[in-house]
Amino acid sequence: MKRTADRYAVIGHPIAHSRSPWIHAQFAQQTRQDLLYSAIDVAPKDLPAAVRDFFAQGGCGLNLTVPHKQAALALMDALSEAARIAGAVNTIVREATGGLRGENTDGIGLVRDLSCNLGVDVTGRRVLLLGAGGAARGVLAPLLALAPSALVIANRTAERARELSQLFARFGPVQGAGYAQLEPECFELIVNATAAGLQHESPPLPVSTLRRAQVCYDLAYARGTTQFALWARECGVARCYTGEGMLVEQAAESFLLWRGVRPETAAVLAALRS
Ligand code: NAP
Repeated sequence: MKRTADRYAVIGHPIAHSRSPWIHAQFAQQTRQDLLYSAIDVAPKDLPAAVRDFFAQGGCGLNLTVPHKQAALALMDALSEAARIAGAVNTIVREATGGLRGENTDGIGLVRDLSCNLGVDVTGRRVLLLGAGGAARGVLAPLLALAPSALVIANRTAERARELSQLFARFGPVQGAGYAQLEPECFELIVNATAAGLQHESPPLPVSTLRRAQVCYDLAYARGTTQFALWARECGVARCYTGEGMLVEQAAESFLLWRGVRPETAAVLAALRS
């Protein structure tokens, strides 16, 4: 009897825009792994049942995206160090015992894209991180591990940024602020980890702060470019990047956790961009 392919999926809300099914199909083909990877739209209130049902029906692993990364924590039997520090889960691994282990590959995905693919040096630079949600939590400790001279988190709800900066203070020089407080400051690297783009908006960053940046990196991605990256380019920022590289790198790390093999990312990233 023919063995059925192992099943994986990404859960989000919304999810129609996700390129993860395409990326994992490329990885599976490249590494000759027999698997299926789909996208499932799940509203926040339905997350616990959706995760339970997916694994009860034989599913092997899940990715989680906006807005589920923090809520997923409570559904895990165990957490990796990265997920525990981040307080957010983007990858679920089903262990041999049947237990669910929460992992977080967002941070390593961003750092690999910045360092290996784009040659962006974070060490000794002033970094501004926009947003204080699940993605920001995932990238904070790995960014601080690159030893920036300062890292400021700015968020629409300023209190969340301040809380996050206190949580991560033991990893490096981090502060939290509201957008209005940024005006006089200068940052070499600005990382947009807000979900503003999903509502076709940009974060309320002072234009003067944006103009002084050398590199802008939007975690979001879209066909062509994103609203934030376009805005940064129009403001004269020399190097503006969107999140396809991080997406492919974090996916490769999830694939490695699930399948024990890390796919090559360069060709997949080039094909995704084209
Ligand atoms: P999330 O947990 O829902 O957090 C959303 C964050 O965005 C919060 O800080 C929120 O501020 C802020 N925000 C939402 N709308 C805003 C607006 N109109 N103006 C200013 N701030 C706004 O989402 P997430 O999981 O962190 O994801 C954030 C983004 O990162 C998404 O676009 C996602 O696609 C992207 N991402 C990309 C990758 C990748 O691999 N490339 C990986 C992870 C995430 P408040 O606290 O004030 O509500």
